[in-house]
Amino acid sequence: MAEAAEAAGRSPDSITLVAISKAHPAPAARQALTAGHRVFGENRVQEAEEKWPALKDEFADAELHLVGALQRNKVHRAVALCDVIQTVDRPKLARALADEISKSGRRPQCFIQVNTGEEPQKGGIPPEAADAFIAECQDILGPALRGLMCIPPLDQEPSLHFALLGEIAARNGLQELSMGMSGDFETAIRLGATHVRVGTGVFGERPPNTKER
Ligand SMILES: *Cc1c(COP(=O)(O)O)cnc(C)c1O
Repeated sequence: MAEAAEAAGRSPDSITLVAISKAHPAPAARQALTAGHRVFGENRVQEAEEKWPALKDEFADAELHLVGALQRNKVHRAVALCDVIQTVDRPKLARALADEISKSGRRPQCFIQVNTGEEPQKGGIPPEAADAFIAECQDILGPALRGLMCIPPLDQEPSLHFALLGEIAARNGLQELSMGMSGDFETAIRLGATHVRVGTGVFGERPPNTKER
């Protein structure tokens, strides 16, 4: 990450590594915490609840990002546990989050997921609807709204998707860009990522038969 940042003329400090611990047991995350890492991501609320309350008790400054789809009936639980929700992608979810934020007094930061590849099986707002949805979320969520997130299609050149996400963020005045995973985080950093989400590159291959995807 530092090399990619330097090659792009960016400060390595301007990029956060979100270590994606999904499908790895709590001891793997604890090992990274003990080594000094603090920012993690999970893609399922239930799995996050199984691992993270105890880890957060041990490491009070750990920061947990939700990077998977969020159902409205889990908003209460997600807001209670997560510090950043990266997958806001529809008005009803944004409103449910805003309600829960005001009720709970917790203040998770929010990112909007953009489905840059317009893949039907993926979450995210389509690119052509992004400007209007961002404006709506700026209304609904206010300063909690920080940036955009995308997951490019597996079989396409990711740089096109990262560049598109950057353009949408820039023209809407959003600062943060969550993009880039184990295979393409250098490219994402070159194109302005402020958060890269790396699982395999940090923890190794995920154990098989997990419920992700
Ligand atoms: C699993 C996952 C990652 C990490 O993927 P790796 O290829 O293991 O780095 C990043 N983002 C999201 C949304 C994920 O679900």
